[in-house]
Amino acid sequence: MKRIVVLGSSGSIGGQTLDVVSKLKNISVVGLSVKKNILVLKDQIKKFHPKYVCVGNFDDAKDLKIWLKRNNFKTTVFSGDKGLEEIVSVPNADMIVAAIVGAAGLKSIFKAVKEKKDVAIANKEVLVCAGLELMELSRKNGVKILPVDSEHSAIFQCCCGAKKSQIKKILLTASGGPFYKYKKDFSKITLEQALVHPTWKMGKKITVDSATLMNKGLEAIETSVLFGVPIEKVEILIHPQSTVHSMVEFNDGAVIAQLSNPDMRLPIQYALTYPERVTSNIKSLDLVQLKKLEFFKPDFRKFPCLQLAYDCAKKGLQYPAVLNASNEIAVSAFLNGKIKFTDIARVVNNTVEAYSPSKRISVRTSVNADMWSRNFAISLIDSKISKGCGFS
Ligand code: NAD
Ligand code: MG
Repeated sequence: MKRIVVLGSSGSIGGQTLDVVSKLKNISVVGLSVKKNILVLKDQIKKFHPKYVCVGNFDDAKDLKIWLKRNNFKTTVFSGDKGLEEIVSVPNADMIVAAIVGAAGLKSIFKAVKEKKDVAIANKEVLVCAGLELMELSRKNGVKILPVDSEHSAIFQCCCGAKKSQIKKILLTASGGPFYKYKKDFSKITLEQALVHPTWKMGKKITVDSATLMNKGLEAIETSVLFGVPIEKVEILIHPQSTVHSMVEFNDGAVIAQLSNPDMRLPIQYALTYPERVTSNIKSLDLVQLKKLEFFKPDFRKFPCLQLAYDCAKKGLQYPAVLNASNEIAVSAFLNGKIKFTDIARVVNNTVEAYSPSKRISVRTSVNADMWSRNFAISLIDSKISKGCGFS
């Protein structure tokens, strides 16, 4: 029996993880965490009877304890950031499913690895912010970091134990998002338009990232970190059918791909059951009905976030952390109607240009850069709004 803690259980990946678990025999849920969605958490408690839960704030924790007592649950309740570190440290958990959105998941993931728990990681922002340090720590502690992101699960499956020196390049596929073929003025793109994704139903932040293609930029960095290859070996291909989830070309010229209907429950299940492959309900792929698989080069000028991500990966040091943090702030401002779609790349670009890096590579310098970047991007947005002028 594998015992898991799901961080971010009220979200899109968290919910799908529980859906997968409910169909598997050998996995039990010992812990769940949500930031605010207590109603969803209560339903999940009734279904999975976790021994531990964690909520975002102390007041919610207090109310939840009363509800648990009234309903005869013996669940321990943690709260806040400290609570996240406590729930990943419980002795009876073997694996942490990291499905929080943003660098907010960083401390809990590092703590899990320190506590020698395997991590199934969806939370790509943490890999971008301090991924090299996380991989180093996981190697030292003999901990597995298993990818949940569909592309990275595909690459993991294609590599199947091959040495990284045998990889010629990694072909990272992208659906292209809603604006891949968009011919009109990008500055007029509304929030509603940006929140419609052609293939996947996901949380709002990643949906906006998929529309700017920043998601693919973050994923290129995630690929470089997880598989230990330089960013120059990661090539992006727009693949509108979202059927080939990524490919690996080896030194001898062989290209191995992983295909399936787009359904996050497959990479989630593989991370949970690895190295086993277990029967699932995922719809069988019908290539004859699908008819065609297309691949195109992305347009880096139309999607400047993609270029910014590659530039930051090449610069190294804390630049990926600065890119990620300013993007989180810009996306949140776009979601709150404060800035335009095209301002997202401008906020990130201005922040990256203003950053003075530290030569020291460590978790601390990455976390400091993340904080600096957030503050810089917030004041940049606020000053533009108060002056009523646009971004350059
Ligand atoms: P979501 O917004 O649907 O869910 C986020 C979850 O994190 C929620 O449970 C929320 O309560 C929790 N959370 C948010 N902020 C928090 C904080 N500060 N502290 C503690 N908990 C917090 O997001 P999602 O779409 O499920 O994405 C989760 C992660 O998985 C992201 O990093 C995303 O890039 C990645 N991912 C998602 C998909 C997908 O299909 N949704 C696919 C691949 C990768
Ligand atoms: Mg992905």
